[in-house]
Amino acid sequence: MEEGVTIWFTGLSGAGKTTLARLVEAELRALGHKVEVLDGDIVRTNLCKDLGFTKEDRVCNAQRIGFVCELLSRNGIVVIAATISPYRQVRQEVREKIGHFIEVYCKCPLDVVIKRDTKGLYRKALDGEIMSFTGISDPYEEPLAAEVILETDKETPEHCVEKLLEKLKQAGCLEEAHEIRTAQ
Ligand code: ADP
Repeated sequence: MEEGVTIWFTGLSGAGKTTLARLVEAELRALGHKVEVLDGDIVRTNLCKDLGFTKEDRVCNAQRIGFVCELLSRNGIVVIAATISPYRQVRQEVREKIGHFIEVYCKCPLDVVIKRDTKGLYRKALDGEIMSFTGISDPYEEPLAAEVILETDKETPEHCVEKLLEKLKQAGCLEEAHEIRTAQ
């Protein structure tokens, strides 16, 4: 994949972005691609550690992640961003800048992610211990035209990964690494 691509996971906390990003990363590495994952939780401990959870900071967070995605993907890397990125407009802005961009909506109803509460954050948000929590006290704007929608309350992780890989194949993203591998 000479140009690389950015695979941008968006969705509520606990919707499955990190889980699926890591599974897809492993699959793509096995296919011979160079892959980098920018996980929202990790990025917030370094690149974006000065940012909070206001609308402005969330927009800035997505812009910075988008900037790194652009640099890497134009150098042939498959970049996987996994970040709530709740605002539609900044996702669109990043999409336009990057060009080769696949938006993946990890779709999961609020009651299911509350039940999962993998990080214990929903309980705190519902108890008012955390303010501005996406889905509870802060907005999440669903994608209107994501390339892939993964319904993580209905589809198994394996099925979600298969569906995404199929989409990447259709979009011509898996060809070059495959050609390199078979030519060896
Ligand atoms: P996020 O990165 O969106 O905050 P995580 O990946 O950290 O979400 O957590 C998602 C949780 O949901 C994990 O505990 C995972 O095992 C579970 N889960 C259940 N079904 C799925 C699925 N189909 N896809 C992804 N995660 C799933």
